[in-house]
Amino acid sequence: NQRIVLAARPQGMPDESHLKLESAPMPEPADGQVLLRTIYLSLDPYMRGRMSAAKSYAQSVEVGSVMEGGTVCEVVESHSPDWQAGDLALAHTGWQAYAAVNPKGLKRLNPDDAPISTAVGVLGMPGFTAYVGMVEHGRPQKGETVVVSAASGAVGQVVGQLAQHWGCRAVGVAGGPDKCRFVTESMGFDACVDHRSPTFEQDLAAACPNGVDIYWENVGGKVQAAVLPLLNEFARIPVCGLIAHYNETGAPDGPDKLSGFMRHILTKRLTVRGFIQFDHADRRGEFFKTVAPLVKSGELKYRNDVVQGLENAVSAFQGLLTGKNFGKLLVQVGDD
Ligand code: NDP
Repeated sequence: NQRIVLAARPQGMPDESHLKLESAPMPEPADGQVLLRTIYLSLDPYMRGRMSAAKSYAQSVEVGSVMEGGTVCEVVESHSPDWQAGDLALAHTGWQAYAAVNPKGLKRLNPDDAPISTAVGVLGMPGFTAYVGMVEHGRPQKGETVVVSAASGAVGQVVGQLAQHWGCRAVGVAGGPDKCRFVTESMGFDACVDHRSPTFEQDLAAACPNGVDIYWENVGGKVQAAVLPLLNEFARIPVCGLIAHYNETGAPDGPDKLSGFMRHILTKRLTVRGFIQFDHADRRGEFFKTVAPLVKSGELKYRNDVVQGLENAVSAFQGLLTGKNFGKLLVQVGDD
């Protein structure tokens, strides 16, 4: 069995010295268990937090353990009456090719409903994050302007398209002209601004002639700084992620910007709300009922970025933290 274990806790960018590829004996399913073969491993930014010992909203992965992660798997051997070889399932078996698990936590997948990769993407955790964060904390009203950072990514692509579905103007922020073109031409956002351009701040202001009512925070850093002056009174900021800061090892250089940020919150009466998708698990059924038909009809488009082979997972994960991925990042670990 091929697997990647957390060999050491990274400071800054993780690499092969922290995430070690190793061969292990094939797991043997006990009575009641199933043996799963990984088809897709989902790579997600939260995994950077799990590599760290710092206290957060979820437990760290122990050093020496297989890195955790969502997977799409096939049952290859079943010792459970409810599962048969050939069944497909959404699992959480981590960065490995095979795992023997108790099937209680598995979700059955039907490839006739939707491509199985969507179970970790547009119809899985990232899509749910976008939906629930907008409904609960963005609270979009018709005619409002929504700015979303990391707009071509797993969460961002859904946020912007749902904003439009609910009658808002969707403005994406993405890294580079190819991503921006894709976000407007293929995903249909009203505008997309390149945060790497020297005219980024002016371009963003021009794309938001009526100001910004919802800023969906995925990254932090200079994108956040550029959005703040554009926010309207009573604007909402669902704080979903701060990926620009995940590899930081100390306080950023430069003057303290917190008091300026607080002044915006006060004078514009902003609502800044951090959230984690699993706190809203009771809305998963409603999400699926709302979003699956939009995906099926083609109104809501999605893009995956599929990397071949578990041996390429570490470099793909590094790419996620530097903007090299283009769409929802998956590793194809085995044939589908
Ligand atoms: P993406 O598919 O959007 O990939 C990450 C993207 O972030 C990159 O493609 C890049 O886009 C951007 N990025 C990466 N590094 C930097 C950097 N240093 N500075 C600026 N931008 C950077 O990932 P997801 O959609 O899976 O996740 C998006 C955010 O949502 C993350 O912050 C993640 O932690 C968060 N999240 C939160 C959840 C919650 O429950 N709160 C659940 C799921 C995700 P570009 O090239 O366009 O800049």
